[in-house]
Amino acid sequence: MADCLFCRIASGEARADRVYEDDFAVAFRDINPAGPTHILIVPRKHIATLADLTPEDDALVGHLHRVAVTVAHADGRRDFRLAVNCGADAGQSVFHLHLHVIGGRPLAWPPG
Ligand code: 5GP
Ligand code: ZN
Repeated sequence: MADCLFCRIASGEARADRVYEDDFAVAFRDINPAGPTHILIVPRKHIATLADLTPEDDALVGHLHRVAVTVAHADGRRDFRLAVNCGADAGQSVFHLHLHVIGGRPLAWPPG
């Protein structure tokens, strides 16, 4: 989608501090980090929200989770938080599915 920020980052059209990529996913540092490590993992496929997943995406979702562990470990984080905001009231501001990997500081629960 031409007007989607994370599609443009995934394709390379928009710049980002990329830390990982493969045929299905791209990971890059959040521009406004919530901790020493804050990496976003996005599918190359445009999916607006978690609620838009279909059964054909099941393998992709598993892959995104494994990429999250890979990039967390590569950043030296054995303990980290994985978060997905689904919908505006939950804090989603970019409507292309993304996993947040946050770590490098103590993390309170529940989040705000
Ligand atoms: P959401 O609020 O949708 O769960 O998360 C969107 C995230 O994208 C936010 O943490 C925000 O800081 C990040 N973000 C927004 N625009 C950009 C950008 O242009 N580049 C990067 N690297 N991150 C962005
Ligand atoms: Zn998109």
